[in-house]
This record gives sequence, C-alpha cells and structure tokens, in this order.
Amino acid sequence: MAKRDYYDVLGVNKSATPDELKSAYRKLAVKYHPDKNPGDKAAEDKFKEASEAYGVLSDKSKKENYDNFGHAAFENGGGRGGFSGFGGFSSADFSDIFEDFFGDFGGGGRQSSRRKSNNRGSDLRYDLSISLEEAYTGKKQNIQFSTTEKCVTCKGSGAKPGYNPDRCTYCGGNGRVRTNQGFFTVQQTCPQCSGSGEEITNPCSDCSGQGNKQTSKKVSVTIPKGVDDGTRIRLAGKGEAGTRGGASGDLYLFINVESHQLFKRSDVNLFFEFPISIADAALGTTIEIPTIDGGKAKIKIPDGTQNGKQFRLKGKGMPFMRRGDYGDLYVQVKTEVPVFLNKDQKELLEKFRQIENEKSNPSIKKFFQKAKSFWKS
Ligand SMILES: [Zn+2]
Ligand SMILES: [Zn+2]
Repeated sequence: MAKRDYYDVLGVNKSATPDELKSAYRKLAVKYHPDKNPGDKAAEDKFKEASEAYGVLSDKSKKENYDNFGHAAFENGGGRGGFSGFGGFSSADFSDIFEDFFGDFGGGGRQSSRRKSNNRGSDLRYDLSISLEEAYTGKKQNIQFSTTEKCVTCKGSGAKPGYNPDRCTYCGGNGRVRTNQGFFTVQQTCPQCSGSGEEITNPCSDCSGQGNKQTSKKVSVTIPKGVDDGTRIRLAGKGEAGTRGGASGDLYLFINVESHQLFKRSDVNLFFEFPISIADAALGTTIEIPTIDGGKAKIKIPDGTQNGKQFRLKGKGMPFMRRGDYGDLYVQVKTEVPVFLNKDQKELLEKFRQIENEKSNPSIKKFFQKAKSFWKS
C-alpha cells in the first residue's frame, strides 16, 4: 500500500506552522483514539497514521528530511547519498512515540503482561566457589540465602484471611491512571497500588499486608559436572516471591571454580608442567603423573626428550557439560638442571663433559657452525 503524504494525512499544507500541525493532529488523535473506538481497526490505523505523520512533521530535522526526500528519507537501508546515517522511522521509534504520547493505550494483553511484570519477584544472585575436583565430578550442594517467600497465612494476597482485597480507589482497579499533559493523555502505573489495582483495607497481620515475608531459604542444587569458572546456573522461580500473585523471580548461581595447585584449566583441557632430571630426559624413563580424578597415569618418556616436549593424554581432561565425553590432559616436560651437586656427582659430570661429543649435542654443533661462518665473513 502506498504511503499517504504526511501533510495529506494531517490535512494541512506544507507551510503549516508547528501550532497548526499540532492542532490538526489533536483533532485526528481525539477522533480516532483507540480508547474512543474500541475494536475499530480502521480508526486505529488512522490514529497510527496520524501519529506517525505528526511524529515526523513535529520534529525539525525529520521534517526537513521528509520535505527533501519524502518517505524515502525513512526507509531503512535506502543507502542514498545525502541522508545516509539519518535514523529511519522504524517501528521501534514508532512505538516510542506512542508511549510518549499516550502511554500504554494498546490491547489488554499488553497491559496485563506489564502488570504481571511489575509484581514479579526480584532475581537473586548467589556466588558459589567450588574446587576443580568438584567441577570435575559435579556435586549436590545445599545453599542457604535470605529471600522473600509468599505469606502462608494470606496466600500472598496481603489481605486478612476472610477478607478480599478491595478495588484500588485511586485507579478504580485499573492499575493505571491517566493524566492530561497538554492535550495528550498519558497513562501511568497507579502510584497508589503499584499497578495491582487492589487495595488492602484489612491487611494480613502476619505479613503486614505485603503478601510476602522475609525468610531464610534452603535450596539443594545440582552442580553439573564440567562447570567452568563463570558458569551461571538459573534456578527458575527460586528468587524472591512476587507480590499479589506475581511470579517469583529466578535464582542465579554464579560458579567460581578455584584455581588448582597442580592443574591449569583451559576450557575442557587440563595442563601441567612435569619436571624431570636431565638424566631421565637423556636416558628415557616412565613417569607417573596425577590425574584430576584423583588417580594416576603413566607416561613413557623416550630417551632424548627435550625440554618443553608436550604429551597428550586423551580423555583425561575435564568433562564437557551435559555431554558424555572429556577433554584432554597435556603434560609438558620441564628438564631441571641439577643444583647443589656433591663431589661424586661433580666428578661424574666432569667425566661426562670430557667424553661428550658433537653427535650427542646436535644443536650445539649447529650453532657453532653458524657462528664460525659468521666470524669468517
Ligand atoms: Zn500475609
Ligand atoms: Zn490503583
């Protein structure tokens, strides 16, 4: 459907003053306002059309763009030179203008969802520190925290048992009130009842009419195996109780996995450095290393293993969350040059130095060949 010219919509000509625009729009808005024409789709469309036209023509820069480029000025992604970067008139802007002008005039569905969200209980955050071993196995944990709970006596209504909450006298039970601002009618949440539409004249004595009570709650949570530092677990409905029938908030468990004295973790893989003597590195050996499950694993170190060599143990890492498989464990060899040698050790190493040959130290040999040619040139 071709869009009507904004000036035609408002029934004014291009030279109309801001006041003329305003008064033209006021007439249309009053005539076609959805509250006056419930269920009339045509009226609603007319109302929207007028609101959109006024939204543009009442804004100096938008009006300028419209005067220059017409509706094309507000088409998204038009990409024409001259007005790129100018924010189009998206549906988001559109609803903002509605909100600004009239508040929530729309269907009852929207209103009731808003009403509920007003009464929804707060979300809670609970920080829990666990060890890497616990992250590996997963665990059940009882946590205790202070929160609000629905009052048992009044079942959350806030009214004394046997009495029903009355209709809020301020908003007549609507939960929202209208105020006139200029010629706009603005709807707001009722300040008296915070949108519930109810007023407690005979408050429950257990909760002083709040419907909720402060309590200390204990919850048993299952920490799945494989959780990582920063994992967030949501426990739906375990947050603070809602007010007056509103839904409970959620409880968010923030997991902090403590650093480990041996293992470093990267995602599902584990890593550590394993120090070995130069004799073991040169002659080869079998080492026994710790694994995160508390057990041991054997690694065969072949002769001539260099410093920094890494060995991978498949499936010895952390579990993938909600999957059956595991990451890997990486063990990096770190050769340790011996210190504080005794007399025997010194003698033996001295002897070793004398019989060392170029073949057993290929890197050293290579380096000196390069150095020699460097010195010659
Ligand atoms: Zn109560
Ligand atoms: Zn009220």
